[in-house]
Amino acid sequence: MGRVGTSYPENIDQIREQEYPNLRDTTYLDHAGTTIYAKSLIDQFARDMAANLFGNPHSRSPSSELSTRRVDRVRLRVLQFFKANPEDFDVIFVANATAGIKMVMDAFIQCDKNTTLPHTQDSPRPFWYGYHRDSHTSLVGIREIASQGSRCFEADQEVEDWISGKLATELDHPGSESQLGLFAYPAQSNMNGRRLPLDWSGRLRESSLPGHGNIYTLLDAAAYVTTAQLDLSNSKTAPDFTVLSLYKIFGFPDLGVLIVRKCSGHILERRRYFGGGTVDMVTCIKDKWHAKKAERLHEKMEDGTLPFHHIVAVDSALDVHERLYGSMDRISRHTCSLAKQLYDGLSSLRHANGKAVCVIYKDPASQFGNSKTQAPTIAFNVQNSRGGWVGKTDFERLADLHGIQLRTGGVCNPGGIASSLNLAGWELRRNFMEGTRCGNDLDVLGGKPTGVVRVSLGAMTNFHDIHHFLQFVSATFVDERHRFSELVTPGLSLEPPALQQVDSLRIAPIVGCAEWEIPAETSWEVRSTGLAWDREWCLVSEMTGAPLTTREHPAMKRLKSSVDIQEGVLKVRAQLEEVGETELTVSLWDIPSPTCEVKANQPSEDDTELPVPTPYTSKTISDFFTAAIGAPCTLARFPADSFPQAAEGSE
Ligand SMILES: *Cc1c(COP(=O)(O)O)cnc(C)c1O
Repeated sequence: MGRVGTSYPENIDQIREQEYPNLRDTTYLDHAGTTIYAKSLIDQFARDMAANLFGNPHSRSPSSELSTRRVDRVRLRVLQFFKANPEDFDVIFVANATAGIKMVMDAFIQCDKNTTLPHTQDSPRPFWYGYHRDSHTSLVGIREIASQGSRCFEADQEVEDWISGKLATELDHPGSESQLGLFAYPAQSNMNGRRLPLDWSGRLRESSLPGHGNIYTLLDAAAYVTTAQLDLSNSKTAPDFTVLSLYKIFGFPDLGVLIVRKCSGHILERRRYFGGGTVDMVTCIKDKWHAKKAERLHEKMEDGTLPFHHIVAVDSALDVHERLYGSMDRISRHTCSLAKQLYDGLSSLRHANGKAVCVIYKDPASQFGNSKTQAPTIAFNVQNSRGGWVGKTDFERLADLHGIQLRTGGVCNPGGIASSLNLAGWELRRNFMEGTRCGNDLDVLGGKPTGVVRVSLGAMTNFHDIHHFLQFVSATFVDERHRFSELVTPGLSLEPPALQQVDSLRIAPIVGCAEWEIPAETSWEVRSTGLAWDREWCLVSEMTGAPLTTREHPAMKRLKSSVDIQEGVLKVRAQLEEVGETELTVSLWDIPSPTCEVKANQPSEDDTELPVPTPYTSKTISDFFTAAIGAPCTLARFPADSFPQAAEGSE
């Protein structure tokens, strides 16, 4: 602890006491959401605001010129902070990292042939998009506009193979020289804190392979910059576009920046829109002519009035940050060492029966204690001594009772969650159909967690925070006497114990329909995903192929489905009007095969590899369900091969 304390100019506990009164009674472990502003930053900013008159930067008055000067100065200071030479880079102020991503995306849309507008000066070019699995949702969304297709790189090795020409992409075909490409990835996963290689941009640029000439790179540094020094000193190897949010470094102001390599700025300049601030002259009566600002890139991109007060606040943020912490490298050392202690502590917690308490989602390639590969962010779930999952919502509620603040859920990182939790596409879709939504409390489905608990450290995290958190997990979740439930606050539901010990088992063979209790004394197959035949089927609309939900079709809940292993059938019972109770049986081995029609309904090309439910074509089946639900629908089945083989055999 002594060494940690000395990494800053002043002792960390002193900094905490003086600068963060709002953290006094809480253990705040969500710095990946936002870090916290120092009191001095707010005080200095308030003095600055009170002492000066700031006018709209677009005027010529002294107050306006003051704003302009200060904004220009901050632009330079921001570049300096990231060691970027102003000769080679420009800063565009945006609302947040996501707005920066969208600005880059918009530029590529403008280049794309699918958006041919009148008066296009450049010939349109199709656009391909590649992104890494660990991307934040804000990066993933760009795939929706890439007319030439997109690719999610599922592992670093795939990126390496692609850069070295061993892996072909949608871009590799004759004529691709005229196509534009964008490759985006996060410098750090916002989910598990893994840090990705930073040399990909430079290596792609150097590559002389045919498809690589027109590929630009977009680095999402939003998570990285909180506790690491982003170094853009080598403009030859730097990404073309880098986005980040300043609140993640300083806690305030709420402002984002897009840092652009000037040699790649022409991509952004293809946009046709202009607004106040980005145009020198416009005629709009009769004759439609305009002259866009021609000098500096940011002038051409920053439409409307800049958030100039926020930009002025960056001055105070930089001053105070440097005074308190010295440098990003010191923050990196401080947080890296604390994170190692936290990681070691969490991974050493054991129940009395020897079972680990925390399942930590760490990338095998990363190592706590090594800041090149791992940030001070830990994603995990807790298991009780019988292997049952503690729901993330319960974990968060209990943490809250102990004054601990953290983040749970999917944390805006779909690829990271799917791979860490080993969730296949069909399972994610099933979870969605069952009601899993960003931020809700459906914690465990089909025997797997739907999200994670994430703790993340920041510059002002101290040893007490780590100690308090470890103490909490250990006192609350470690089963020392094999009587887990007694240690937990009453009234909070926790996952049921492991299957061997429950008195009854229930499954819902058809998603959304009534649950069915497996008859006692029946042995039942347990797969790594949960109980066999659970949620293997669903109902889909005959019109659109989309799955039905119980919200729209409450009648689903009255359908009774069961599985008869002896007879090898799925049985469904429903009350049909006029006929009364009717039973339908469908062979368990009747596996519908997909038709072209079904495929056409599946949204984007990325999803084709994810299993989707396939409808049965039998009219008997569709008539039965249509009558039972009161809407044209039929039964569909998730593809058999998407179900893992029996993992543990029968009980
Ligand atoms: C926080 C974060 C974002 C989004 O930042 P906004 O400020 O919400 O736009 C994007 N990517 C990563 C890696 C992040 O950590």
